[in-house]
Amino acid sequence: MPESEKKTRVLAVSNQKGGVGKTTTAINLGTALAAIGEKVLIVDMDPQGNASTGLGVPRETRRITIYDVVVDGRSIHDAAVPTAVPGLHIIPADADMSGVEIELSQADRRSYRLRDALEAQANGRTGYDPEPYDYVLIDCPPSLNLLTLNAMAAADGVLVPLQCEFFALEGLTQLMKTIDMVRQSLNPALEIQGLVLTMYDRRNALSGQVAADVRGHFGDKVYDAVIPRNVRVSEAPSFGKPVLIYDLKCTGSQAYLRLAKEVVGRERRRRAEPAAA
Ligand code: ADP
Ligand code: MG
Repeated sequence: MPESEKKTRVLAVSNQKGGVGKTTTAINLGTALAAIGEKVLIVDMDPQGNASTGLGVPRETRRITIYDVVVDGRSIHDAAVPTAVPGLHIIPADADMSGVEIELSQADRRSYRLRDALEAQANGRTGYDPEPYDYVLIDCPPSLNLLTLNAMAAADGVLVPLQCEFFALEGLTQLMKTIDMVRQSLNPALEIQGLVLTMYDRRNALSGQVAADVRGHFGDKVYDAVIPRNVRVSEAPSFGKPVLIYDLKCTGSQAYLRLAKEVVGRERRRRAEPAAA
C-alpha cells in the first residue's frame, strides 16, 4: 500500500530501561488518543502483561494473546478485545509468551510476524472489512529480544518515554544503537517519533536538569507535554483503569491529554509535508 494511503500509524513504545513509564504511557496515551476521537489498538508485547492488567483485562479472560498472533498466525481481528474505553482495543499478553524466543527461532520471517499480521488487517485480508486503527501502540518489554524486534520491524516510529532522573540518558544510548541496527536490517523506514519526559518532579532540580539535557540533545523530537510524577497515575492500574478514567482532573491525566493532542498535531503536519524527494 502506498504511504499516502496508509492510514494507521504504528508506534513502538520502547526504552531498554525498565520502570521508565513505557506501559503507563502506552495505556494513558492510548486512552487519551481514543478520548479525542482516534481509533487505537494497544499491543501488549511484554510477557509481564502489565498493560493488559492496567486496562482491566483479567488474566483468566486472556484467551487469545499476542503470542497466538506472533507464533501461530492468529489474526489481529481475532486477538483484539475492546476495553472500557470507547475506541480503544487491546491485544493482551500472558506469561506463556516467554517461550516465543524458542518457538520462533527456526520460523520463517520470525522478526516480521507482527508486521505481517498488522498488514493483513490493514489490507482487509482477515475475512471482513474492519475500520482501520488510526494508531497502534506497542508496549515493548525492556529487553532486546525477538518480541522487541517484532515491534520495531512493525513500527513506523519509536516513541521513547524517558524518566527524569540521573541515568535517563544511559538507556537511551542503547536504544539508539538498537534503532540503527533495526534500520540497517529489518526496517529502513523506522523513525524516532518522539521522546516524552515522564515522572517529572518540579520540586526536584535534577528533573529540570535532565529535561534540559534531553532537549539539548534531541531538540524538537522531545514533546512539549511533560508527564509529572503523580500518585493518581501510579494508583490507577491497581483498579484496572487508565488514569483518565480513574481521575480525569488530576495533573497526570491532563498531561497525557496534552501529549495526545501534540502527537496528533505533529502527525497531521508530517502527513501534510510533501514526501522527501
Ligand atoms: P515500564 O513499563 O517502562 O517498566 P511503568 O509504566 O510500568 O514502566 O512505570 C514504572 C512504575 O512507575 C509503575 O509503578 C508506574 O505506576 C509508575 N509511574 C509511571 N509513570 C508515573 C507517573 N507519571 N507518576 C507516578 N508514578 C508513575
Ligand atoms: Mg512495562
